[in-house]
Amino acid sequence: MSRFSDFLWGRPPACLLRQYVLAARRTDRPPQAESLPGKFFFCFFLLASTLAAAPADWIWSARYVITEDPQRRVIENGAVAVVGDHIVGVGTKSEIDAKFQAKQRLDRPGAILAPGLVNTHTHAAMSLFRGIADDLRLQDWLEKFIFPAEARNVSADFVRWGTRLGCLEMLLGGTTTFTDMYYFEDVAAEAAKEAGMRGVLGETIIGFPVADNKTPADALQYTERYLQRFRNDPLIVAAVAPHALYTNSDETLKASRALADKYGVPLVIHLSETKKENDDTEKARRMSPTKVLDSLGVFGGRTVAAHGVWLDDADLAILKARGVGVAHCPSSNMMLASGVAPVVKMLEMGLAVGLGPDGPAGSNNDFNLFEEMDLAAKLQKVTTGDPRALPASAALEMATIRGARVLGMEKEIGSLEAGKRADMILVRTDRPNAVPMYDPVSQMVYALKADDVRDVMVNGKVVVRDSVIQTLKQAEILQKAAEYRVKISASLK
Ligand SMILES: [Zn+2]
Repeated sequence: MSRFSDFLWGRPPACLLRQYVLAARRTDRPPQAESLPGKFFFCFFLLASTLAAAPADWIWSARYVITEDPQRRVIENGAVAVVGDHIVGVGTKSEIDAKFQAKQRLDRPGAILAPGLVNTHTHAAMSLFRGIADDLRLQDWLEKFIFPAEARNVSADFVRWGTRLGCLEMLLGGTTTFTDMYYFEDVAAEAAKEAGMRGVLGETIIGFPVADNKTPADALQYTERYLQRFRNDPLIVAAVAPHALYTNSDETLKASRALADKYGVPLVIHLSETKKENDDTEKARRMSPTKVLDSLGVFGGRTVAAHGVWLDDADLAILKARGVGVAHCPSSNMMLASGVAPVVKMLEMGLAVGLGPDGPAGSNNDFNLFEEMDLAAKLQKVTTGDPRALPASAALEMATIRGARVLGMEKEIGSLEAGKRADMILVRTDRPNAVPMYDPVSQMVYALKADDVRDVMVNGKVVVRDSVIQTLKQAEILQKAAEYRVKISASLK
């Protein structure tokens, strides 16, 4: 065959024809294509179908594609085609193979292909404090351990290595977007970009001197420089993160909102995490934290509120009216005995509710969204006494498309649909915990583990391949974590 026909022969529609011709050749009769008109028709069809196949950079295929699209389609023997940073096609493998000719492909015929998971609340750099002080009350944990440990150890270097460690764990476990609040968040953003991970990353503003800023005014200026630097970044949404109502003045909270609005970015804040926080606010101001923040105008633009454990009906109505997204953190709420957020009610009201591991230092200790899905569903069941309260489908939505809504990014991420950013994961289903499989959605929530994630793509780039990180130096990060452990332990003596 000529080089041109050889080129055509390898193309997907041509593959079908090749099968036909080979089958015909196996019979004694010469195939119809051997006649002159037949040859002409054959070549015409071959050329037309080849020209019809659009170029793509990647095709990923799997036994099931969980799309989280508006119809919540689960496609058996499905595939997704990617061009550059976005998805161009989602369908059955044969449909996608007929429509697209990909430069590279990854076929996992036994796996589940799903949207990348969306973490709506965490503190990635605190991974270096993992396990520093467990089994304590929130206020004791914060005041006796975390705040002193942070005062003595947090630096730009700490945030760089801690965020690298956090991103490493998150990406290997299928999280493709994370929402962060910490200090030196510009450095966290550099680390996230290096990891190839998407992030909504908020610089923390707090009413006492911390590692990067000594006053809230300094923190606001620092944040503004950070917002300017990461404007229009393809992976990073720089955000403003006043820590909480109880750690900031009203003036700082109002200034934080104004700054977020000036740059059109989200504001990230902790809200009604503990009963004490609510009781103290009620006592001092005769209002719930939600009402106070609303009266200050803090919810006047895109807001992500973490926890929302102690919210009454009036609070929920305010959050709904203002379009505030809630980051539900079941592991953290359980570990710190903070309580159970009224998630079923939030979902019934149509609030945007996502999942966050929070932590990881004493308020969870890992960044595992598979675990958060599982616990979110089970926590509502045990609290309401109804196993139907929060089904697997709702838990998976919270970790994907609803989580994207919390961040105001539902048009870009959270589902596998043409036009959206190519953030997706392939999860293996050949381990003992994964067989047999009757329902892939249920399997994702109740049976599969973060460790089952095999391949991860963020923004069209493969960042995990065969469970190996492609973007970060894993051995070096683990070594640095061990070094920080020695330094941090010594600082607390
Ligand atoms: Zn938090």
